[in-house]
Amino acid sequence: MKEKVKCLIIGSGPAGYTAGIYASRANLSPILIEGMMPGGQLTMTTTVENFPGYPFGKQGPEMMTDFRMQAERMGADIRMGMVTAVDLSIRPFVCTIDEDKQVLADTIIISTGALAKWLEIESEQDFKGYGISTCATCDGFFYKNKNVAVVGGGDSALEEAAYLAQMCKKVYLIHRRDEFRASKAMQQRIFQIPNIEIIWNSTIQEVLGEKEGMMKKVTGMRLYDKLKKSTQDIEVDGIFVAIGHTPATSLFEGQLELDEQGYIKTIPGTTKTSVPGVFAAGDVQDSNYRQAITAAASGCMAALDAERFLNSQE
Ligand code: NAP
Repeated sequence: MKEKVKCLIIGSGPAGYTAGIYASRANLSPILIEGMMPGGQLTMTTTVENFPGYPFGKQGPEMMTDFRMQAERMGADIRMGMVTAVDLSIRPFVCTIDEDKQVLADTIIISTGALAKWLEIESEQDFKGYGISTCATCDGFFYKNKNVAVVGGGDSALEEAAYLAQMCKKVYLIHRRDEFRASKAMQQRIFQIPNIEIIWNSTIQEVLGEKEGMMKKVTGMRLYDKLKKSTQDIEVDGIFVAIGHTPATSLFEGQLELDEQGYIKTIPGTTKTSVPGVFAAGDVQDSNYRQAITAAASGCMAALDAERFLNSQE
């Protein structure tokens, strides 16, 4: 017999776990399927200093363990596994887990997140979390009065460069072409910040650093100039990769309305998607703020929206 549930939560970052806490307290007895990376993107960071309630910061993985424990203590049924297929065309919705088990769900909360894109060069792998980051708001503080680089030419890269320029000595903005894709207003802003140096037509060929045991650190980067066909080494203490994100929405293509970048569209001010009874929370529907606190908040909203939806169906 197929299992039936009032609320199925797919994904386990701050949004999913918070949805689990609220849905449990609303007596929806939610099942939460954790996915490939339990805890989500925060499990790949070190200290999180901007989440209210942790005055001295908290390691990202520990914070996610706390979220998980709280959701479980409230009654969420948290399970390892991957949702491998969904059918949102019939009610209750049909979700297949790990290819074989099926769960019928009256409501679904999607919180599958988004993954930052990386440069995909070998040396980058060595220093992830030790000087290479994809989040200036999270990690910029550690580079106060230091030299850093930001890679990318979109709004995110320029915004991160402007943010970092307020606290860092110098910010190198590395872009692979000779013009930015970011909005003109953002570009105007960047051109006027004196401690930002733009390096055009260049890519990072190699991240330079020390990697003795646990004491890894970035010390610089080797840039390749595509026009001059030459390399140069520049000393930096940190590198911020801001070349875009990929939302984890492939399961929902053709079933939910997605925007042109693949993020789930929600009705502004709510977590409602194009299918009644399906809600989206966290980075999977947010290409703008992408913070743990905003993801958690939208997880709460999704659980409340699901509860109200179920009440309206009775
Ligand atoms: P994006 O617009 O897709 O820009 C990605 C940038 O990274 C591009 O300049 C691209 O270069 C570069 N890039 C991609 N792959 C690369 C690689 N392997 N190596 C080197 N460079 C690479 O992404 P985004 O900046 O994250 O922005 C996403 C969306 O959110 C956009 O619509 C943006 O407008 C929006 N956004 C808005 C705000 C705001 O309004 N405040 C803030 C942030 C983001 P090319 O240009 O050569 O392709």
